[in-house]
Amino acid sequence: PFILGIETSCDETAAAVVGRDKAGRAAILANVVHSQIDEHAAFGGVVPEIAARAHVEVLDDLVRAALSEADAGFEHLAAVAATTGPGLVGGLIVGSVTARAIAQARNLPFLAINHLEGHALTPRLTDEIAYPYLLLLVSGGHTQILLVRGLGLYERWGTTIDDALGEAFDKTAKLLRLGHPGGPAVECAAETGDPTRFALPRPMRGEAKLDFSFSGLKTAVRLAAERAAPLDEQAVSDLCASFQAAAAASVGDRIARALARFREELPEIASPVLAVAGGVAANRTIRAALEGEANAAGFAIVAPPLKLCTDNAAMIAYAGLERFEAGRLDPLDTPVRPRWPLDETALPVVGFGR
Ligand code: ATP
Ligand code: MG
Ligand code: FE
Repeated sequence: PFILGIETSCDETAAAVVGRDKAGRAAILANVVHSQIDEHAAFGGVVPEIAARAHVEVLDDLVRAALSEADAGFEHLAAVAATTGPGLVGGLIVGSVTARAIAQARNLPFLAINHLEGHALTPRLTDEIAYPYLLLLVSGGHTQILLVRGLGLYERWGTTIDDALGEAFDKTAKLLRLGHPGGPAVECAAETGDPTRFALPRPMRGEAKLDFSFSGLKTAVRLAAERAAPLDEQAVSDLCASFQAAAAASVGDRIARALARFREELPEIASPVLAVAGGVAANRTIRAALEGEANAAGFAIVAPPLKLCTDNAAMIAYAGLERFEAGRLDPLDTPVRPRWPLDETALPVVGFGR
């Protein structure tokens, strides 16, 4: 079965086709993404109204491009999946209305997908890992540790009490005038930097709860920048490297604790897996910290390729595929949900609503 997936929750317009090969392995037949970075660049962040209009302008072409890349037509589809939350309401409506229209016109089931479920299941798309696994979701809007017990069964063990890690990267970049999105810019500047030059806090280190906090680190970066002003290129690099080292130490500490809890609560899992998802998972310093902790605790680590870490529609189509196979279809009139916690994805098991 081919599933068409559509993603429009933020500033990426994306369409993808996912299916299974003869051996039953998930296969990405097409995965096209149009980033709106240029449209928002002048504003230093995503402008919801501009985002919604830009989705309208390119989505039809992207769907056509995805189908043509997959060498498929609407007649080959088994279902249509779209992100219906969480995210910017205008974008969610654009994407899901397009998906609903295709489903209605071709008499196909509709699948209303939680964007975070897409990120959470990506390690199963790329690496075929079995449930349950521990997931670190680190994106622009979320920093969470989740126990993924099964499809729709997500137990949140920890979350950020203030900023998401991606947000902290973006704000650091903005402060240092490195542009948007900030993560890749900070990582690049940090390459030639000295991570020990600025003493920055390691938030939440040693805390019993599995939560994160990054706003204090952000403030410490600002104060350090003010004290060292005017910053030359080397100082900017040193500050980026110091920030990254602090963030990695904090994340590493939280994850080490989560791995220990996993061992305690699920001792029957002989080959445990730590999976990483979300845009910040692309960061090599963060990845190295996670690999160190996973190795020390005897966990395998699964980190999808960069293109599948950041927003894309293959992850939405894949979540749709798992839901389709489980018979968990959604009615065409399922509302979009700008706020939609991942632990609320288990609720309705609905029949084909027509
Ligand atoms: P959410 O999924 O929570 O709604 P989002 O979809 O905007 O948020 P993603 O697309 O998964 O988030 O990731 C984007 C974030 O990842 C941005 O904050 C960006 O700065 C960050 N990021 C991307 N590449 C890197 C990198 N190499 N290092 C650090 N951060 C990065
Ligand atoms: Mg994005
Ligand atoms: Fe995302």
